[in-house]
Amino acid sequence: MKTTKALNAKKTEAREFQTRASGIFFTVKDVLYEGKSKFQRIEIIRNEDYGRVLLLDGLVQTTERDEFYYHEMLVHPAMAAHPRPARVLIIGGGDGGALREVLKHPVKKAWLVEIDGQVIEACREHFPWLRKTLKDGRAELVVADGNVFIDKVRETFDVIIVDSSDPVGPSTILHQESFYRKLKSKLNPGGIIAAQAGSLMLHLDSHARKSVFLKKIFRHSPLYLGPVPTYPVGMWCYNFLSDKVNPADVRTLYVPDGLRYFNPDIYRAAFALPNFLADKLAKAKAK
Ligand code: SAM
Repeated sequence: MKTTKALNAKKTEAREFQTRASGIFFTVKDVLYEGKSKFQRIEIIRNEDYGRVLLLDGLVQTTERDEFYYHEMLVHPAMAAHPRPARVLIIGGGDGGALREVLKHPVKKAWLVEIDGQVIEACREHFPWLRKTLKDGRAELVVADGNVFIDKVRETFDVIIVDSSDPVGPSTILHQESFYRKLKSKLNPGGIIAAQAGSLMLHLDSHARKSVFLKKIFRHSPLYLGPVPTYPVGMWCYNFLSDKVNPADVRTLYVPDGLRYFNPDIYRAAFALPNFLADKLAKAKAK
């Protein structure tokens, strides 16, 4: 563990350019961790408003104050819609927020497959929820490339959560058709996949491109939305993928107690898409 606070005593601000000419910044109260792994630059800083903030290659992944929006919306729509999610796989998500949400359900086992062991170590030290979830007897941590893991694993899963980074470097494959075909082959009958899909406004082309191949693979492949204040433009998209479960037809949702954002009304509302996104998807499918 390399805590380089002393080396970064002068760091006063963390900036993320979300577009070429705009972005978000955090003043830095403390640098809690800074390191470079084989895969990426890892920083955890403390900001007076947002608490601990994890940045990978300078991009905000998680902040203590608003991570619940993202992790609840990534995990609970699929988990709540599945009648009995016993075996759950998470790919990516080394900060542990998705695992924490999955373990709120009565699952038998949850695997977290993260490519970068250094992200896990940094988050284990600085994000208390990760320490706690990894102690849960139902959780198994695997440090591996999710794309390689899925080729080798013999297990099959009721729910698969893809908590990837943006499609650059080792995460690129997690946004490709071949990967989703492999994931589908590891789903139990009635299984559901939920994947983070990027910014509503900034990744429109990516939503369109993916919607074409996802529709070929899964009978149901709607996008759904949720706010994440510190992610680019504040509104995030997720894929809901299943052959059996059409989210619009689900009448009984299992919602654990104590959630801060997700509830049955949010579930229903999340699948309503703004016109510009619906038009973009309709045109992509028509091509
Ligand atoms: N959802 C957050 C966002 O969009 O900002 C990112 C959450 S999480 C921190 C993303 C994780 O995916 C990173 O820790 C990264 O190391 C991991 N990752 C990237 N490529 C991967 C791969 N091929 N297999 C498994 N994990 C991967």
